[in-house]
Amino acid sequence: MAAARRTRGLIALFDVDGTLTAPRKVVTPVMLDFMKQLRKVVMVGVVGGSDLVKISEQLGNSVINDYDYVFAENGLVAYKSGELIGRQSLKSFLGDEKLKEFINFTLHYIADLDIPIKRGTFIEFRSGMLNVSPIGRNCSQEERDEFEKYDKVDNIRSKMVSVLREKFAHLNLTFSIGGQISFDVFPQGWDKTYCLRYLDDFKEIHFFGDKTYKGGNDFEIYDSERTVGHTVTSPEDTAEQCKSLFLGKQIADA
Ligand SMILES: [Mg+2]
Repeated sequence: MAAARRTRGLIALFDVDGTLTAPRKVVTPVMLDFMKQLRKVVMVGVVGGSDLVKISEQLGNSVINDYDYVFAENGLVAYKSGELIGRQSLKSFLGDEKLKEFINFTLHYIADLDIPIKRGTFIEFRSGMLNVSPIGRNCSQEERDEFEKYDKVDNIRSKMVSVLREKFAHLNLTFSIGGQISFDVFPQGWDKTYCLRYLDDFKEIHFFGDKTYKGGNDFEIYDSERTVGHTVTSPEDTAEQCKSLFLGKQIADA
């Protein structure tokens, strides 16, 4: 890597889904090659909400070596130059006592909920968050659609979130309603801005993401004072914007 030629103190940081790849798709050879070219000019990093297994499926098995930084699960799992530099989880952060208190209360609340149907898997425990579903995650697609309609009228999820938010105010949790049947619960700041703690040495952090609107999963890092935010519409758009931002400059400097 021609590190000496790269601008010191500057990094281009990319969301994965919708930014480097089409949603839920594998990166194209053209985009892969573009990122290789870009890496000759600037330091590059990726930050995705998924775990490293999923990110590797989308960006390739050599992803931790293809980028200077790779942040899986928003940075709860962090790699620099191919090496693990940090790992955090909900379990070690909150501890079992607090987790149990939250899970017990939530299950009681769901048990007392009078909704038309219930299935199973009401709480899914993930490494960086809890996913809570009043109907249960293993319902059918048809049951999902029905719950979504019912929830729009009766506000099951938003009522539940306001109760939990008040009851567990001391835990500083963030509640995020998304999709059809559930909401996510995670500690405050465990969005994509989490990864910025590893980038203190950079004066200029350019972030590229497709969901930069309020409520989107790129919003906080896009909006952060630490970053220069760029909204993209596709991998092609990401490449275009990077060309004019970074590659044009190099040609002009040459
Ligand atoms: Mg995205």
